Amino acid sequence: MSKRMNVNSDTTWQDLPRGGAILDAGNAADFKTGDWRAMRPIWYKDKCKHCLFCWAVCPDMSIMAKDGKVIEFDYDHCKGCGVCVDQCKFEALELIAEE
Ligand code: SF4
Ligand code: SF4
Repeated sequence: MSKRMNVNSDTTWQDLPRGGAILDAGNAADFKTGDWRAMRPIWYKDKCKHCLFCWAVCPDMSIMAKDGKVIEFDYDHCKGCGVCVDQCKFEALELIAEE
């Protein structure tokens, strides 16, 4: 079992892995990667047909679905890549710049 590295304000560059590589698998839950997002997908519920194409292509599993329907977006982890927006054929998603 790997030991997670605790990177904080006291961590020196000498303590970091070479190239700043993240060596521990399965660590996405530890970081709110959505904080780094420059673009944000906006979901228009009224236009959504719940085809789930967007859900299937999201690389971060940030589109939450239940009982075959989209229910919300996980903006804590959505990175704003826009793949979901490109996939939606019903104009139910729009990519806008973060404020
Ligand atoms: S691709 Fe568009 S229409 Fe289909 S579930 Fe996603 S937002 Fe809704
Ligand atoms: S913008 Fe990218 S990461 Fe965010 S919900 Fe869409 S596909 Fe997922």
